[in-house]
Amino acid sequence: MKWRGRERSSNIDDRRGAGGRPGGLSGGLGRGGFRIPTGGGRGGGGRGGGIGLVGIVVILGLIWVTTGQNPIDIISGMNGAPTTSSSAAQRPLPSAGQDELADFVGVVVKETEDLWTQKFADAGSQYSAPVVVLFSGGTQSGCGVADARTGPFYCPEDQKVYIDLAFYDQLRQEFGAPGDFAQAYVLAHEVGHHVQNLTGVLPQFNRARASMSATEANAYSVRVELQADCYAGIWANYAGEQNLVETGDFEEALNAADQIGDDTLQKRMQGYAVPKTFNHGTSKQRQTWFARGYQSGDVSQCDTFSGSV
Ligand SMILES: [Zn+2]
Repeated sequence: MKWRGRERSSNIDDRRGAGGRPGGLSGGLGRGGFRIPTGGGRGGGGRGGGIGLVGIVVILGLIWVTTGQNPIDIISGMNGAPTTSSSAAQRPLPSAGQDELADFVGVVVKETEDLWTQKFADAGSQYSAPVVVLFSGGTQSGCGVADARTGPFYCPEDQKVYIDLAFYDQLRQEFGAPGDFAQAYVLAHEVGHHVQNLTGVLPQFNRARASMSATEANAYSVRVELQADCYAGIWANYAGEQNLVETGDFEEALNAADQIGDDTLQKRMQGYAVPKTFNHGTSKQRQTWFARGYQSGDVSQCDTFSGSV
C-alpha cells in the first residue's frame, strides 16, 4: 500500500506507553443514553431514529487467543459488569517500528474519514469520525478494560476504536496474515462498526440480541460482522481510487479474511469447527463480503440482513 507521505488523521489518541491509565472517557459505564443519527437511504437493517443505548460492553478478545474463537469485537449487553484485568501488571513501551505503524494507522484512518464523509454526504447525512485509540499493554475504554490480549475492537459506548499495535505482529505471525493491506483491512473493519453505530444497525443488534438464544444471536452477529467486512471492502475500493493500492494488496486482505474466518480459526486452534458458535462468519463468507465491497464500492451492496449470507 502506497501510504507514505499521506495526510494522517487528527482523531488518533496515542496512549502507548501509558499503561492501563484510565481517562479520556466520554461516558460512564452503564450510563449511556446518547443519540445516534441515522444515515438515510442506506442499506442494512436498523434505522430507527435516535436510540438511547445503555449498555455495558464486554470485551472478549481473550477468547480468540485461548480457544480459537473470534474475538467479539463489538459485543454490547445489559448484563453484568465489564471484565476487569490486572492491566497494571504489564505496561510495555512501544517497540521499535511501532511509530511507523502508528503513522500508517493515522493515514488509513484519515482515508476512512474522507471516504465515509463522502458516503454519508451522498446519503444526505453527516459523518462523525470515531477516535482511534492506540495503546500498549492495557487501557481503559468506555466498554471496560482492554489489555494486551484484547484484539482490536470498537466500543459503541464511547464511539472509539481501540488497537494495540502489537496485534499486528500477532496477525502476521500467529494468524498468517502479513501485509500492510491486511492491517488496513482490520482497521477499516472496526471503522465499519462505527458506521453501523451511526446508521442504527449496531444499536438494533444490541437491542434484539437480548431476547435471542445464543445461537440466534451468533447468527445475527455474523450478519453484522460481514457487513463490517463489506464496508472494509468499500474502503479498499476507495483506497484504489486514491491510487494507494499496490499489486498484491487485495490478496493480502483476502488472505486475512480467510485466516480469521471462524471455521479456519477454530480448526487451527481446536482441530474442528462448531458452526453454531460462529459469530464473525466463515472464511468464505468474510472473503465474499469483503470482495463485494471492494468490487462495487457501493454501500447498497452491503445489505447482509436480507436473504442468506
Ligand atoms: Zn467486527
